Amino acid sequence: MHEFAFAYDIFKVAETTALKYKAIKVSEVLLEIGELTLIVPELLQQSFKMATTGSIVEGAKLVIKIIPGKIKCRECNKVSTISLTEEAHLTGLQLFKCKHCESNNTEIIEGKKANVKNIKIQE
Ligand SMILES: [Zn+2]
Repeated sequence: MHEFAFAYDIFKVAETTALKYKAIKVSEVLLEIGELTLIVPELLQQSFKMATTGSIVEGAKLVIKIIPGKIKCRECNKVSTISLTEEAHLTGLQLFKCKHCESNNTEIIEGKKANVKNIKIQE
């Protein structure tokens, strides 16, 4: 249930921004979520509603953009785009294969982070 903790963080960022600009309301929060965070958008939406109830952020639209995962191969140095649906269930999260040379000696370089990209407020 890390969605709720994450939703609470987003709420705090949105609230802080709203207070800073003396907004009356937060209307939209744009989020980018790496596919490999394993955050479930539907659960995050629900958690966000719970976390913001009774606050200045209540009713804000949460827009979620999913960023695909990327790995870099330590053998051939090439970057592959990976998708959870294809590979994670078979190989486990830490064992993504390079799509160029099939090596398992790879590191995740994108897709494990989640960031608030933009917050729209009403002043
Ligand atoms: Zn490779």
